[in-house]
Amino acid sequence: MDKQLLAMLVCPLCKGKLAYDREAGELVCRYDGLAYPVNDGIPVMLPDEARAIDVDEKLPPSSGAEG
Ligand SMILES: [Zn+2]
Repeated sequence: MDKQLLAMLVCPLCKGKLAYDREAGELVCRYDGLAYPVNDGIPVMLPDEARAIDVDEKLPPSSGAEG
């Protein structure tokens, strides 16, 4: 997953920043609690293709200082 590409990606629903879950190979929106699949390195930014997640369990450690 290209970091520059990742930095450009935002959630199509809330326009929020996404977190990449390398283990699951998914892009996670913590705001909507959705995980977008990444197929062969290509993010599928379709809400219909995303799956609902448990944000509390899924949230990766934050490296930012937001909030
Ligand atoms: Zn979102």
